[in-house]
Amino acid sequence: VVIAPDGLPYSLLSRWLSRNRLPALAGLAEKLTFREINSEQPPVSSVAWASFMTGLPPEKHGILGFTYRDPQTMNWYVPKGDLISAPLLWEKLSRQGRRVFVMNVPMTWPPRPVNGLTVCGFVGNDLDTGAWPAGFGQELKNRGYMIDADVSLARKNRSAFLAHLHEVLDRRLETALDYYQRENWDFFMLHIMETDRLQHFFWDEILDESNPWHSSVFEIYQKVDWFLSRLQKILPEDTGLVLLSDHGFTGLKAEVNLNRWLWENGWLRFTKPVPQSLHDLHPESRAYALYPGRIYLNLKTREGRGCVSPGAEFEQLRSGISQKLAGLRHPQSAEKIIKKIYRPEEVYPSAEIRPEIRLHLPDLLAVAEPGFDLKGQLWSAATFDKTIHSGMHTFGDAFLLTNLDTARIDSIRDMHDCILSAYAV
Ligand SMILES: [Zn+2]
Repeated sequence: VVIAPDGLPYSLLSRWLSRNRLPALAGLAEKLTFREINSEQPPVSSVAWASFMTGLPPEKHGILGFTYRDPQTMNWYVPKGDLISAPLLWEKLSRQGRRVFVMNVPMTWPPRPVNGLTVCGFVGNDLDTGAWPAGFGQELKNRGYMIDADVSLARKNRSAFLAHLHEVLDRRLETALDYYQRENWDFFMLHIMETDRLQHFFWDEILDESNPWHSSVFEIYQKVDWFLSRLQKILPEDTGLVLLSDHGFTGLKAEVNLNRWLWENGWLRFTKPVPQSLHDLHPESRAYALYPGRIYLNLKTREGRGCVSPGAEFEQLRSGISQKLAGLRHPQSAEKIIKKIYRPEEVYPSAEIRPEIRLHLPDLLAVAEPGFDLKGQLWSAATFDKTIHSGMHTFGDAFLLTNLDTARIDSIRDMHDCILSAYAV
């Protein structure tokens, strides 16, 4: 049984458990292994869960970020689960004849046939196409189940958004508990997106217990705890249990608009005063960025309208951008923004990378100091911005709570083999 509250940080959970604020989780943490694990680079949910599902690094499973561009057409798109050609954990278990139930895991749209039931998480959004078999989608629809909360509501009305998050979570937990009891599943996984959604918009209220919003915000975690207490009552004693998150979280000091920074430094130009898409990139643009921290040079041999020659010109430009970016500081606080800038071979060391994946490897991957989020929107009024978001993802500080052997576990990716080997015993 795998229960996965997305983005719930180890450090925050530890503080709450030491004060017994979540009794079911605290009880489990006392008996089982409770520790920190790492995410993937960059630490976004689509990358991390793809690694969990396949046991492969990003350059092998092919999900390297939340957004992609086709370098030939400069069409921008969101990669989906069909880009992952490797078999998923629950496909492998299905082939062993095991019965599986998988709910809400990111990057599982379109759903793949399994020996059991599966319903996708984000970036799928439609129960008609998001569940397998299709009849399961109809059952979920009939009971008011929702794949994901409507995040756009957070910008319009925070209190309506919070109420909506509660409703999506209630439906999800009730439905999961119901289906858990319907059958003696060999593998049961529930992913919970609402913790991540909450933390992006209510991080300050989560931390500040005197804030008037705190109790209704904290109730999201209490509901997960309630679910676990109910589950524990019906869980067979020898069940392998894995609770984990896919990345950590921290407070957001500023969003850093990398494309604006590239534009201010003369490396990025547009054909319009306010560009709408990557189609409006000027052919003389030298570089552009995608979220988070992924910088691509406008390379002649890769981009359809590239102007940078491979070899010396490419290397010189890349070093120039890297050096300048490393010195970036916050204009008011003078804080250092960049923690490390990787070249692709440092983050993606696999020897053989398929060409269709290789063209998505960034030429530089910038990792910011905690609190600074390296955004990818094409046009913004300033490099530094503070928006409605109050929290952001971190690479470290994801959590793992389990009765499986965690001796060789460093990151969420390692959990794939760890779980599979538990079936071999
Ligand atoms: Zn998130």
